Amino acid sequence: MLEVVINGTHHRVAEGLTILEALLQLGIDVPSVCYDPRARPGADCRLCLVKIAGEVHYSTSCTRPLLPRMCIETHTPELESFRRSMLGLLSTHCAPGAFAALPEKSLHRWMAHYRVDPARTAAADAMDNSHPHFRFDPAECIACYRCVRVCEDLQGQFVWHVVGRGGSDHLSVDRGDRLADSSCVGCGACVDACPTAALVDKSRLHSGAATSWTRTTCSYCGVGCELRVGVREGRIVQVLPEPKSPVSKGHLCSKGRYAWSFGEAPDRIVHPLVSSNGRWQRVAWEEALGRVVTQIQAVRAASGPDSIGVLGSARATNEENYLIQKLARVAIGTNNVDCCARVCHTPSAAALKQMLGTGAATNSFDDIERAQTFLIAGANPTENHPIVGARIKQQVRRGARLIVIDPRRVELAHYADVHLAPRPGTNIPLLNAIAHVIIHDGLRDREFVGARVDGLDMFTKFVREYPPQLAAQICGVSARDIVKAARLYATQKPAMCFHGLGMTEHLQGTAGVMALVNLALLTGNLGRTGAGINPLRGQNNVQGAAVMGCEPDSLTGSIPLKEGRGRFESVWGAKLPTARGLNLLQMIDAAEAGRLKMLYVVGYDILLTLANVERIRRALRRLDALVVQDFVMNETAREFGTVFLPAATAFEKDGTFMNAERRIQRVRKALEPPGLARTDAWIVAELASRLGHEQAFRFKDAQQIWNEVRTVWPAAAGIEYPRIESAGLQWPCPSQQHPGTAVLHADSFARRRSAKLECVAYAPTEEQTDAQYPFMLTTGRNLYQFNAGTMTGRTHNRKFRPHDTIDISPADAARLHVIPGLLLRVVSRRGSVVLPARIDIRVKAGELFTTFHEPMHFVNRITSSVRDQQVATPEYKVTAVRIEPADGA
Ligand code: SF4
Repeated sequence: MLEVVINGTHHRVAEGLTILEALLQLGIDVPSVCYDPRARPGADCRLCLVKIAGEVHYSTSCTRPLLPRMCIETHTPELESFRRSMLGLLSTHCAPGAFAALPEKSLHRWMAHYRVDPARTAAADAMDNSHPHFRFDPAECIACYRCVRVCEDLQGQFVWHVVGRGGSDHLSVDRGDRLADSSCVGCGACVDACPTAALVDKSRLHSGAATSWTRTTCSYCGVGCELRVGVREGRIVQVLPEPKSPVSKGHLCSKGRYAWSFGEAPDRIVHPLVSSNGRWQRVAWEEALGRVVTQIQAVRAASGPDSIGVLGSARATNEENYLIQKLARVAIGTNNVDCCARVCHTPSAAALKQMLGTGAATNSFDDIERAQTFLIAGANPTENHPIVGARIKQQVRRGARLIVIDPRRVELAHYADVHLAPRPGTNIPLLNAIAHVIIHDGLRDREFVGARVDGLDMFTKFVREYPPQLAAQICGVSARDIVKAARLYATQKPAMCFHGLGMTEHLQGTAGVMALVNLALLTGNLGRTGAGINPLRGQNNVQGAAVMGCEPDSLTGSIPLKEGRGRFESVWGAKLPTARGLNLLQMIDAAEAGRLKMLYVVGYDILLTLANVERIRRALRRLDALVVQDFVMNETAREFGTVFLPAATAFEKDGTFMNAERRIQRVRKALEPPGLARTDAWIVAELASRLGHEQAFRFKDAQQIWNEVRTVWPAAAGIEYPRIESAGLQWPCPSQQHPGTAVLHADSFARRRSAKLECVAYAPTEEQTDAQYPFMLTTGRNLYQFNAGTMTGRTHNRKFRPHDTIDISPADAARLHVIPGLLLRVVSRRGSVVLPARIDIRVKAGELFTTFHEPMHFVNRITSSVRDQQVATPEYKVTAVRIEPADGA
């Protein structure tokens, strides 16, 4: 701590701060409009000048480090007079209308404070309205260039540039003349940063200022950024980043920041519906719930409880998913309960649990700034987990090394020391070859391996079969790059691995994650900060849904059924079903075979998103009843639903989500659900009550449900609501005194001191290219859309990339005379879809890429029924196809 004197008062302040940071911490309000805690200081506005004893000139407090025994004056009459003059100069850029309409902008606040009037006379011209979410008015720009610094230092995007010199300097975008033509990714950081009316959210201009603000957690990806939701007259009018979020640190991506209006979609369903003769009819809740209960009872009486399946939701809170699986087990009497983790990261959870004892990310997002090397395997964080992607990009700009494994040249590949672009379906030989090099070159961490790793001899023998030259042939990459990647990962430590669905959605998805764990074990990149194996979870609460017990073979806390039976039966006051449950894909098989008669699906469009749609259709057609609970009529309900239960969105309820780093964070209600829509928790409790289990589902609020979760799941016992009001806690957190766990496996693994290397042999998928199907297609998401487009497709984000496209390499496009927008029929062994062509330099020749955000295309008509060998996740990433001009094109 430093001793300083400020305005005649002695203070003790932390070391390493600038004077302005210290003043802000002490609550001494010094004006500044160009300072932004998220970016390097600019010292442009000069308002934060202070007087330091012994110095002739004033100093900008945003740039001067605080030193011991400094004596600082912040509000002398001279300083105050200078500030008033500076604000007078800046006010010439401020129009009276903007000043009055946007009092929250910091220039306007300080002008009001110093009683300086707006004095802009220049006409409003050349306004850039091209961006769907915000507008740029250059006439209001005071040239503080805070937007430039934030765009570079926070997002790493370099959209804004200063052009011209002296008094004629001004802002320009990096590409074209308009924001819409630039490389802007729509994160809104420049809008937050702008202290004037130059950059303003359009929703703020059109709908006015919010009258209440609620802190909550983003309902899109598994990063778990925190938002401040601004509401006016019962409607969301603006969403801003929560500056105190430990995850997002005052930053959001285009989805969290702007794609929030889905709750107001014209096709929102706000009444319960029942299907009668193929037509939906509005009914009262009593009738809809009664219909569901009658269907459950009838199916159960005729075919037994195991002829019913229940699916939890990545969009529901932890508390709601807990109730959903409890409903399945206690009120219906079946372990047939699963969720969409099955089709994304169940392979990660299975591999991590099997090898390390805990099926979750080993480290925290804050380790990004401590990592020296990143291994990004089958993930595209700058589009799919943008806040993590931006943090990785910044750490690489600071000098960290980067290895990217991805068939496409995704954005991070441009920053990479090595980009390995394997043929889809060949991750295993690639990773085994990296292990081969680590062992062959003597790069293993001898101390770590000696103390904590078993099976080295057998593994060494095993990876001899995977020399880089052989893997290079199988994978279509260079052997030299494999060697380079291995050496970097093993020597530039700590090395942090993030992986995505490019690793898991394969025949050998679980094996692929095991092969990654092998690399971390060999190099000692586990149990320490800045390292680990970290699945980037795709949906905000997909991990929460699975961990809450929406899995057929485990209870809340991923506790195996056998192990937890006694404790759960005593807390629930009910016997648990004994029959082995079906996972989601097994439920589909059972439905197709006529053994599963009823499905209750919460917040999940299985028809649109499961692979090989025609097969899913055949299965769903055979059901006696299909109950869908969602906020809009999804494709599953539209084609096969018998009852539709209208659900609240995440903005309309309380509870918690679990992010990808095991952090439990609060979800807070900002709005009332419209019409008769109700929370998933309310609906599930009503069903349970009508099935004779009212007592076990009677909870006053979300906190009370969570307290029951804490009772049955020891690793979450210390995570109380009051403790997660401001920052969330990472499990394991077994007691009220425990601080939560940022890094798993520090001294030992969950079950044992050591972990075993696994020999995962390569088994090629049956889905191969041939003369008839010469292209290999992979699928994924784009920055602006999310999964099936259920939420983003009903917001202004739709204006970016409004349709799915078939992305083709320039070489193949030239060879086949494909031009952008040409409609192509993409034909696989299962069916075909028609998509407009998009020529994309990121795609390799012989490969294609598409998203699956748009129901009208139903891309999963062509994906295959191949599944992961261990946990049945569909092989979405490998589909052999051909392309041909669509009829009439
Ligand atoms: Fe939401 Fe993920 Fe974007 Fe954060 S990175 S704002 S959690 S979608």
